[in-house]
Amino acid sequence: MSEVEEFLTPEEEKEIVAAIRTAEMQTSGEIRVHIEKSSQEKEAFERAKEVFHWLKMDQTKEANGVLIYVAVHDHTFAICGDKGINEKVPKGFWDSTKDVMQKYFRHKQFKQGLVEGILKAGTELRMHFPWKHDDADELSNEISKA
Ligand code: CA
Ligand code: CA
Repeated sequence: MSEVEEFLTPEEEKEIVAAIRTAEMQTSGEIRVHIEKSSQEKEAFERAKEVFHWLKMDQTKEANGVLIYVAVHDHTFAICGDKGINEKVPKGFWDSTKDVMQKYFRHKQFKQGLVEGILKAGTELRMHFPWKHDDADELSNEISKA
């Protein structure tokens, strides 16, 4: 099995998708998780920006997509938000989310780290992008892998 496939069990993946669904009940923001082996010698954040574009996450109505990017082999991750978010939130907005994830990742609790990060991102986004009645699920909640 590849490192990417080994990273999470199918049950863990289901829990992560459920966390995305829960988070997106609070906010119009769209959260996705992408897992790949390596960021190809780029900074995780730089690579996350590429993936963000590749997954067409830059096409949401309110420009409020958020990508949680993980490079399994490199032991790195990054959070990348669209420009709608960056215009509204203070610098370092994602730092507390990253800190929470880091705490779990350090103990190899990857599923829990992702779940906590997703839920925290949802709570943080809610203030700036509250859920609305006409909300659409603009981006798939499934984990993307490469
Ligand atoms: Ca939505
Ligand atoms: Ca979604």
